[in-house]
Amino acid sequence: MLFATTRGLLPYLMADVIAELGIARVTVDYSDFFPTKKAPPLAEHVKELTRTSKSLAGPLNQYTGLDQDITLLPATADNLMTEFRQTSKRQDRMHCMTPFGRQQLDVPTFIEEVTGLRPSSAVLPLPFVPPFIPSTSTERNTAIKMERLEERSVETVKAILDALPSTPVPLICPVTSATAAVVTPHASKFSGWYVPHVVIDDLVASLPPLLAALPPRPIMATLHDPLAMVRAIKAGVGIIDTAMPFTMAEAGLALTCWTGKDVEDDGQGKRAQGSTSPESAESAVAPYQLNMWGTKHREEMEPLVEGCGCYVCSRHTRAYIHHMTVIRELSGTVMLAIHNTHHVMQLVDGINDGGGDVIDGFINMYG
Ligand SMILES: [Zn+2]
Repeated sequence: MLFATTRGLLPYLMADVIAELGIARVTVDYSDFFPTKKAPPLAEHVKELTRTSKSLAGPLNQYTGLDQDITLLPATADNLMTEFRQTSKRQDRMHCMTPFGRQQLDVPTFIEEVTGLRPSSAVLPLPFVPPFIPSTSTERNTAIKMERLEERSVETVKAILDALPSTPVPLICPVTSATAAVVTPHASKFSGWYVPHVVIDDLVASLPPLLAALPPRPIMATLHDPLAMVRAIKAGVGIIDTAMPFTMAEAGLALTCWTGKDVEDDGQGKRAQGSTSPESAESAVAPYQLNMWGTKHREEMEPLVEGCGCYVCSRHTRAYIHHMTVIRELSGTVMLAIHNTHHVMQLVDGINDGGGDVIDGFINMYG
């Protein structure tokens, strides 16, 4: 039911390692295909891959090298600002600010490419308003700008939804509290909802009312923090899309939080990965994460997490990973990414098995 998905790992981890970690779904970010304005369109890029590859697997699988379900995310996943402009009588274009710079994306082309590529599902590129816009102007001016941006965003969403054709690919619709009322009448076109992470900073307050206002559909969210992830699951999010294991690894962090795996196994003598039991947790909470830059790990001969069954913990010591981290050797990041991914999967498994007890236990420990 729950999946940790990531695109950030793909360039660094071999496909079989990802499969071994138990990742069931891989997210491909549409913006990955548009590194610059001059880059070829997605369809041509994939056509080229198909031509050069001997594999008979689907084109998106060839891009990732994986034989798993793919969700295609639009370039707007982490956008700060998106506009939708009438550039000619016939063509509407999305203007997106992405981590790769300013890009153009027109909705008809997006639909055409998604239909041709047939991912397991696709997220419609709808604009949303970030919680803040970096600005040198005064707070009051920024607030006015935000209000106008939000108004324009709602108009844009309405225009796109009115023009949206039905597609053979299941579409997931991004929603915010500002767009929920506009999106709801079009509910039949969508197989699920998507909540971008930038709008759910104040997760506890904003997410439940938003989800309650929408017709029941599977809900996917982008989150970059285990605590936010657990809170989102509690609020009703069913699919988590995150590059967290990789972004943490890049910062030299090893995820070591309680995974709830020992709740079910308690009393059977089994101690699961990296966890303290709920009773001992009161006196000794499992650390949330380890900073592998820290010199205190220099001579530690234990694994990142005692009892962790991942590839890294069964082979390498903290001292070795610390060394690889401080000399900036890429394998340090890769090892942390493998462990972090495994650990997130353990947490997701723990929640699937232990349900509310694990969710509440986790929030009590780290919230
Ligand atoms: Zn591990």
